[in-house]
Amino acid sequence: MNAALRIRLVMELRRSGVTDTRVLSAIETIPRNLFVSEPFADQAWDNAALPIGCGQTISQPLVVALMTQALKLTARFKVLEIGTGSGYQTAVLAALTRRVYTLERHRSLLVEAESRFRALRLTNIVAMLGDGTKGWPAQAPFDRILLTASAAELPPALLNQMAEGGILVAPVDVGPERQEVVRVQRTAEGFSTESLFPVRFVPLVPGVPDEAS
Ligand code: SAH
Repeated sequence: MNAALRIRLVMELRRSGVTDTRVLSAIETIPRNLFVSEPFADQAWDNAALPIGCGQTISQPLVVALMTQALKLTARFKVLEIGTGSGYQTAVLAALTRRVYTLERHRSLLVEAESRFRALRLTNIVAMLGDGTKGWPAQAPFDRILLTASAAELPPALLNQMAEGGILVAPVDVGPERQEVVRVQRTAEGFSTESLFPVRFVPLVPGVPDEAS
């Protein structure tokens, strides 16, 4: 139905430096229109971030694709995502690897994302309400960790929960109104960090809001 729009998006991502064909095919296959709210449905296949409620946004497809590509996924990994939001990035990860654990601090976003996972029969996702800055100790270590919200410092708990040989990809604050995506690799010797590209993300906020909010 929206095949032409999907192909237009994939072509744009290719032109913008997304080379991993598995990532491109996941973007083409996952119905992003099911992850945006009704007023924005006609923009679902645009390369743009869109509001999803609770003051949050579904990330721009190019950023989802570049961050996913930076993770260097194989089909066997156990991945932790911080910031489920709409669940779109989660679904892209779930299409590419064995199991995805995802944490969200807003219950209403989590509930909506979980119903999308059920509707799409994405059975390799485990989602939970929680503070992502603490990670998911019961399921650690993780082969890959992805943050979809930005902080000045990478939470130490997340670095601790990386497996040896693991990769973490995250936006970090590098100045006023300036963020960049970094990739951290963990080896037997320690951690090494490289910066990849500039981005704009919502902030990583510690704690879980009261149920009333
Ligand atoms: N990956 C999402 C992007 C959502 S925006 C998508 O594709 O739609 C980032 C999300 O991170 C928001 O939903 C926000 O509520 C969540 N978030 C921010 N701080 C968090 C924290 N400490 N723990 C868990 N989730 C957090």
